Amino acid sequence: MSSIRVAVRCRPFNERERQAHAEPVISVSGQQIAIRNPPGKGGGAPERKFTFDHAYWSGPSGTDASNGGEFAGQEKLFEDLGHEVLRNAMEGYNACIFAYGQTGSGKSYSMMGTDSEPGIVPRICEALFAIMSGTSSLPFLPAVDPASTETVNYKIEVSYIEIYNENVKDLLNPTQAGHNLKVREHPSLGPYVQGLTKFVVSSPEEFYRIMEMGNKTRTVASTLMNATSSRSHAIFSVEFTQLRQCAVSGLSTERTSKISLEGASINKSLSTLGLVIKALVDREARRSAGGNPASIFIPYRDSVLTYLIRDSLGGNSKTIMIAAISPAADSYEETMSTLRYADSAKHIVNQAVVNEDANA
Ligand code: ADP
Repeated sequence: MSSIRVAVRCRPFNERERQAHAEPVISVSGQQIAIRNPPGKGGGAPERKFTFDHAYWSGPSGTDASNGGEFAGQEKLFEDLGHEVLRNAMEGYNACIFAYGQTGSGKSYSMMGTDSEPGIVPRICEALFAIMSGTSSLPFLPAVDPASTETVNYKIEVSYIEIYNENVKDLLNPTQAGHNLKVREHPSLGPYVQGLTKFVVSSPEEFYRIMEMGNKTRTVASTLMNATSSRSHAIFSVEFTQLRQCAVSGLSTERTSKISLEGASINKSLSTLGLVIKALVDREARRSAGGNPASIFIPYRDSVLTYLIRDSLGGNSKTIMIAAISPAADSYEETMSTLRYADSAKHIVNQAVVNEDANA
C-alpha cells in the first residue's frame, strides 16, 4: 500500500498579473508551501502552511518568495517525478501522473510543456524509447550483465481518449471521432474502453506524429461540439511491456505497465472527482480508526472520468498528482482550494501490484 504522491508547483506571473503588478502570496521552503492572506482578505493573519512530497518554486524572481533561490525547471520535475514513473513502469506497476488546478495555473506546461521546454510527458516517452533501444542512462536501471542468457523485448502501445459530456472519443481514430465509445468492465482488469485504437510505436518521431494526430482530432471534435478544452478531459495512455526470455530454460516472463498521462486538465468543475477524493480520504480515516473501510462508498461510477481512472485513485497504480498554482493574490481563493484538495489527496492509499505473467 502506498499513498498518492503529491507535488505542488507555483508558476511565474503571467502577462496580466505582471501588468497589474500583482502581489505574490506564495512562498516555498523545502517541502513546504506557505500562502499569505492578501490585503483586504484577512491580510496580516498568519500565513497557512502545507507540506507535500515536493514543493516546486517556478515563480517570479525578485520576490521574497523564492525557495532559497532554488528554481524548479522542467528538468527538475522530470528528475523527481518522471524518474519515479519510469522506475515503477520498469518494475511492472501501473503508473499515473495527473495535473490539477485552475485554468492557466500551469497544468499543460508541467505535463506537455513547450517545444523548447518539454514537459514530463514527452520526457517520459523519450526515456521509454531510450530504455527500449538500450541507450538509456537512467540511474535506477539494472546494469547489463554480458553473461546473461536472457533477452528482453519491449513494446510500447499508445491510446488517446477525450471525455466530454460523459462521452468517450477515440482521438486516434479521426473517422470515428464523432462516435461515442462504450466503457466496459473486465472481470480482472477493470474498466476499459471498448474498441479503442492502440498503436504500437517504435520511435519518438512516430510517437510525436501520433500524439499530434490525436491533438488535431481533439481540436476538430471540440469545435464541432462547441466545447472548450477546460470542460473536456484527455487521457493519454502508454502500455509498456517487457518480455524476458531465458535461452537456457526457455522460460519467459511478461511484465506490463499501464502509464496514464493526463496531459490536459482535471477541472475543478469535475465535482465527482472531488467527491471520489473525499470518499477515499474518509475511507482511510475509517480504516485508521479501526472501522470497516468497506462501509464508505466510493462514487467512481458517477462519471466516466472517475470510472476510467479508478485504478489511479485508490486502486492498482502508483499515482502522482501535480497541483499547479498561481503566485498572485487575486488567485488566492482558487489557490487555497487547490492546496486543500492536494492536501487531502495525500491521504489516498493505493494498492499497486506488479503485473507479471510467467509462461513456460
Ligand atoms: P493550464 O494548463 O493550467 O490551463 P498552462 O500550462 O497553459 O495552464 O499555463 C498558462 C501559461 O503560463 C502558459 O503560457 C504557460 O506557458 C505559462 N506557464 C505555466 N507554468 C509555467 C512555468 N512553470 N514556467 C514558465 N511558464 C509557465
